[in-house]
Amino acid sequence: MTPPGSDETPGDQRPDPEGADPSVDLMEYQAKQLFARHGVPVTVGTVVTEAGDAAAAAEEQGGRVVVKAQVQAGGRGKAGGVKLAETPREAVTRAEDILGMQIKGLTVHRVLVAPAADIKDEYYFSFLVDRADRGYLCIASVQGGVEIEVVAHESPEALAKVPIDPQTGVDDAKAAEIVAATGFPAEVADRAQEMVTRLWDVFVKEDATLVEVNPLALLGDGTLEALDGKVSLDDNAAFRHEDHAAFEVADTDAAGQLEAKAKAKGLNYVKLDGAVGIIGNGAGLVMSTLDVVAYAGERHNGVKPANFLDIGGGASAEVMAAGLDVILGDPQVKSVFVNVFGGITACDAVANGIVHALEMLGDEADKPLVVRLDGNNVEEGRRILDEADHPLVTLVDTMDGAADRAAELANR
Ligand code: GDP
Ligand code: MN
Repeated sequence: MTPPGSDETPGDQRPDPEGADPSVDLMEYQAKQLFARHGVPVTVGTVVTEAGDAAAAAEEQGGRVVVKAQVQAGGRGKAGGVKLAETPREAVTRAEDILGMQIKGLTVHRVLVAPAADIKDEYYFSFLVDRADRGYLCIASVQGGVEIEVVAHESPEALAKVPIDPQTGVDDAKAAEIVAATGFPAEVADRAQEMVTRLWDVFVKEDATLVEVNPLALLGDGTLEALDGKVSLDDNAAFRHEDHAAFEVADTDAAGQLEAKAKAKGLNYVKLDGAVGIIGNGAGLVMSTLDVVAYAGERHNGVKPANFLDIGGGASAEVMAAGLDVILGDPQVKSVFVNVFGGITACDAVANGIVHALEMLGDEADKPLVVRLDGNNVEEGRRILDEADHPLVTLVDTMDGAADRAAELANR
């Protein structure tokens, strides 16, 4: 709980497994909305959540369209999440194919319907924060369209990397330098320089930590257009961008839904990518539980923790049930590790909490639970769980042993 008058918010306590600064990743259509505000040549298109609505959207966008999954992940094309449709009727079929699809663990809840572009060539362009250099960096290539990691690996000489001094930013001279270093063909040089300048505006004026366009496309009529967009906004700067809040609300994808549900129940929960659900009491214990599970996972096909969830000091049946409910609602979860150290709330209360939570959830509890209890009144806690003899619950004495068991179950 946040004490009154404290300026801390639960958001500030989000663990950050990557060690990166907090940022908000936008979906393509949101990135394109920002691009449009800064004069970047782009066609935003129409977002639909029901396949049936794709027909009218396609009609609106000129009939021949591309239907694109909107999730906060790249590689959608490769995953089958980007498809051309010749007619509005075909757009509906393609939208049916794509909606509900899983891309990198994210369920597709919306698709973007945009005019099918006549692509002559595909380039790559990005601005990002270069922490090591305490500056900004532009990475660009005339070999775009494919994943940039592939270009970096197979033909590193085709990647231009131009450092940008934060004091001076991208002025005309810098933009010209970027265009020359990238090797844009002479006939698009002027348009490319204009594009670079506009994208720099997006990067700086929106307080982004990443602006990436892949493909930056050369179209049949000789113009350039941002056909895809990836933008990460610096959450630390959110206070000066009231309009950015709308981007977060719009996210109701898998992780967003689970986090919103947890927030509504007052839980300190962060969705991660793995298969072992984690519940613990105390942020420190939960953090070390994540480490122990990741380590144990190495022996079981690389399974990883599915979430961070700290149920705090008072592990009542209600809080335990709320926590289990959120975790079991994550389709990626295959097993759950409940790791509790009894303190003021003793182990017997926690054990009763688990038993009652399972009763409350009934059939919704359908994944194996590995429970490790220690601390205050541990004997009584273990006795309660032994006696309840719930078919889903395995009691393991040590943290390492329990992590290993949970990882093994998740790998089945
Ligand atoms: P990503 O795979 O998640 O990066 O999604 P993209 O938006 O980059 O789309 C993947 C690929 O689909 C692009 O590199 C293009 O080759 C292709 N594509 C995307 N939009 C269009 C379009 O409007 N017309 C055509 N012909 N191809 C497109
Ligand atoms: Mn792309």
